[in-house]
Amino acid sequence: MANELKVGVVGGSGRMGQMVVAQVTETDGCAVFGGVDMPGQDVVGKDIGVVAGIEPLGVSIGQDAAAMIAGVDVVIDFTVPEATVEHSRLAAQAGAAMVIGTTGLNKEQAGVIEAAARHVPIVWAPNMSVGVTLLLALTEQVASILGPNEYDIDVVEMHHKHKIDAPSGTALGLGHAAAAGRGVELDSVYKAARDGITGARPDGEIGFAVLRGGDVVGEHSVIYAGDGERVVLTHKAGSRKVFAAGAVRAALWTQGRKAGLYNMRHVLGFED
Ligand code: NAD
Repeated sequence: MANELKVGVVGGSGRMGQMVVAQVTETDGCAVFGGVDMPGQDVVGKDIGVVAGIEPLGVSIGQDAAAMIAGVDVVIDFTVPEATVEHSRLAAQAGAAMVIGTTGLNKEQAGVIEAAARHVPIVWAPNMSVGVTLLLALTEQVASILGPNEYDIDVVEMHHKHKIDAPSGTALGLGHAAAAGRGVELDSVYKAARDGITGARPDGEIGFAVLRGGDVVGEHSVIYAGDGERVVLTHKAGSRKVFAAGAVRAALWTQGRKAGLYNMRHVLGFED
C-alpha cells in the first residue's frame, strides 16, 4: 500500500527483532521496508521474514544502518546501547522517527537519545507492554499513599539467563516511579542487592533484587512491606509478543507527531 508506514528494524535477527518483524507484518498500516544487523553476522543478506520464522518479505538484512534508516519513516531498535545511540544520531539526521526498546544505557548515552529527540519523535521505554505501563502508574500512586516511615519498598525482577544488564530497565523504571510517588530522586534512596552484614534497613530506601535463569520473559514485583501487612504489585510477561505489539503501536503513534522524547504512557494516552 502506498501510504503504509515504512518500518526499519535494527537488530532484525535478535530475540526481539524477530518478534517485531512478525508483528509489523501482521499489523495493518505498516510494513517492513528495511532491516540491518551487526556487520559480519551470518544473517546479513538473508530475507528478514525468513529469519523471523515467517514468510519471505523480499527485504534482505543489510549492514549499512545509515542507508537503511534514510529510506524508512520509523526505526524500531531493540539492540545494545552503543548501537542504539548511533542509530538515534542517524535517525535524527535522516528525519526518521524512532522506537527504542534497548535497556542498560548510561547517562551519557541517554543524553545522546535526548539530543536526537530534539529533531525527531522518539518513543523510548524499557518495557513496551500495556500491563507494565499500567504497573508504573500504579507503583507511583501506591508509593504516594504508603509513606517511607511505615512501608519499605523493594523491586524484585526475574529474567532469562541471556539478559546482559541488571537490574532490568523496567525494574529501574519502577524504582523511579516509586521514588516519584514519594517526591524524591531514586539516586538518593537506591539500594542495590544486599550482601553480608548490611545493618538494619533505613527508612525510605528503595531496594532491588535480581534473579536470572531459564527462559523467563520478564517478571516484576513491587513490594510495599509494612508492620503486619504487605502490598505486592506484580506483572508477568508470558511472551515477548507483548513488547513487540507495544513497539509497533508506538511506531504507528509517531506518525505526524512533533519532535520530542516520549514513553509508553504517552502512546497509551495516560500522559499528555
Ligand atoms: P538479542 O541479543 O537477542 O538481540 C540483539 C540484536 O541486536 C542482535 O540481533 C544483535 O546482532 C543486534 N546488534 C547488536 N549490535 C548491533 C549493531 N551495532 N547494529 C545492528 N544490530 C546490532 O537481545 P534481545 O533479547 O532482543 O534484547 C535486545 C534489547 O531489548 C535489550 O536491551 C533488552 O533488555 C531490550 N528489551 C526491551 C524490551 C522492552 O519492552 N522495551 C523488551 C525485551 C527486551
